[in-house]
Amino acid sequence: ETASGASLAERAAADGTSFVLATFVDLDGKPCAKLVPAAALDRAQTDGVGFAGFAAGGTGQVPSDPDLIARPDPDSYVALPFVRPGLAMVQCDPHVEGEPWPYAPRIILRRMCERLATEGRSLRVGAECEYFLVERRDDGTIVPADAADRSARPCYDARDLTRMYEHLTDVSTALNTLGWDNYANDHEDGNGQFEQNFAHADALTTADRVIAFRYLVRMIAERRGMVATFMPKPFSGLTGSGMHLHVSLWAGERALFPDPDDPRGLGLSELAYGFVGGVLGHAPALLALLTPTVNSFKRTGAATPSSGATWTPTRATYGGNDRTHLVRVPDGDRVEIRVVDGAANPYLAIAGLIAAGLDGVDAKLDPGPVGGPGRPGGIGTTPVPGAAGGELPPTLLHAVEAFVADPVITGALAAAGAGGDVPAYYAARRRAEFLDWHSQVGGWEIDRYLTAF
Ligand code: GLU
Ligand code: MG
Ligand code: MG
Repeated sequence: ETASGASLAERAAADGTSFVLATFVDLDGKPCAKLVPAAALDRAQTDGVGFAGFAAGGTGQVPSDPDLIARPDPDSYVALPFVRPGLAMVQCDPHVEGEPWPYAPRIILRRMCERLATEGRSLRVGAECEYFLVERRDDGTIVPADAADRSARPCYDARDLTRMYEHLTDVSTALNTLGWDNYANDHEDGNGQFEQNFAHADALTTADRVIAFRYLVRMIAERRGMVATFMPKPFSGLTGSGMHLHVSLWAGERALFPDPDDPRGLGLSELAYGFVGGVLGHAPALLALLTPTVNSFKRTGAATPSSGATWTPTRATYGGNDRTHLVRVPDGDRVEIRVVDGAANPYLAIAGLIAAGLDGVDAKLDPGPVGGPGRPGGIGTTPVPGAAGGELPPTLLHAVEAFVADPVITGALAAAGAGGDVPAYYAARRRAEFLDWHSQVGGWEIDRYLTAF
């Protein structure tokens, strides 16, 4: 992990960096940056870097607001010479008139982690980022970039994996140069779909790494004329892209999730079951954070693509080493939250999981029997609606309504974003996104209605 204490300018001097992307992430997950020359890094660290927040995106600002002053966190510094020689990136925390800006997702997650720390706890998180490599045609349509020889079952296909060798190994080398321990790279279930893994870390570090990972993958792909996309469901007929989060609670160096004597047989402690119970119980509201786009719900829908399974949950259930559940428990060391997708803002997604999980721990919420109630035949089967093990919201709008109706999740975000009304602003943004999409007349409607009446 990153060495502590060194200033930005010292880090830049040590690795020959000449420009730093001073970056902050808005509530929609967009990285916003200014390019700061090495000679100006001391000033950037002391004074911060100014942004017109309203112009940036989902920042909670209106045009008349004073500048967001983004203060770099030197511990998040990463050199990215494989993107451009001499380039680095640092994550910043936006402030307004000297105060931390409450609508900044990184500040929200930091405060959630601080809340955990006051109880002597911390959350470790591993993120599995899936993405598609596509080519964009002149007519605006996209095709998987390995379409030249498109196999029917590309998952783990050694030949399809080899076709993207140069791209994948460039990314792998970058991850290992950063010290993130890239331990596997695979071809996923969709044509052109890949996953490249890096080691787990503390919650804030992993969220920062997800942002840097998405950035560097997209930039490296562009060099070869490809678009790397983390959108959750680029092709209706193919599996979507998840961002599974593996989470575990710790008290110092002591892991709180494992219990070899677990009577339910998954190797988890009562505390871990409480955490899982919280995630499942708050799942409808959490989806507004974990699957935050219109497109997200095309991935989690029950429809099974022709090439295989969706590998996404349709209900709030958990199980052992079984990929059909929202929460998979591969072993007692951590639990895998599988519903999260590539559009999720990693800061908000993890903040939401902390809020839900801790509520489950504090209230000793029972996730119910392993496997969930009445799960008949796995992925794609129609479930029985209900609270525990209930069906997930079918659209972004449903999730947003569940979110505003969940005082535990909204309360935790409001407290972490002290001084603003982050939940209301966030919900309004997501609702507007849904309605904007809904206002468009598309091909499906023409096909269905043009001659129907
Ligand atoms: N692509 C699947 C998803 O959308 C996950 C497949 C896997 O288990 O790696 O979650
Ligand atoms: Mg995967
Ligand atoms: Mg996984």
